[in-house]
Amino acid sequence: MPKNEDSWKEKLTPEQYAVLREKGTEPAFTGALLKEKRAGMYTCAACGNMLFSSGTKFDSGTGWPSFDDALPGAVKFIDDNSHGMHRTEVVCANCGSHLGHLFDDGPTATGKRYCLNSVCLEFGEGEAKK
Ligand SMILES: [Zn+2]
Repeated sequence: MPKNEDSWKEKLTPEQYAVLREKGTEPAFTGALLKEKRAGMYTCAACGNMLFSSGTKFDSGTGWPSFDDALPGAVKFIDDNSHGMHRTEVVCANCGSHLGHLFDDGPTATGKRYCLNSVCLEFGEGEAKK
């Protein structure tokens, strides 16, 4: 695990660094995993921590990969009052990297909508664990 921002810069692509470590947002409808529908698991692109199962992914129409639940203990939440809004930031529980935001307007039974950046995730096809 990188110990400082310089090592993170070496490990990540410039696009990944800007979102994961500088809390950026990728442009809508550009993410490689937006339309991914295969069964499998999504991990943190920075550290490999298992975050989401394909079974919780849904098409929110927002242009960002969306999930209605995270794996237990996989993510942490931070109050985010930037850009004149109150939002809940979602970060990786293992490495603290920014993943996206959590909203309470999800259309499924959980009522949750994790709005994530595709560039923060890696997908491994296989058995969906949830
Ligand atoms: Zn991580």
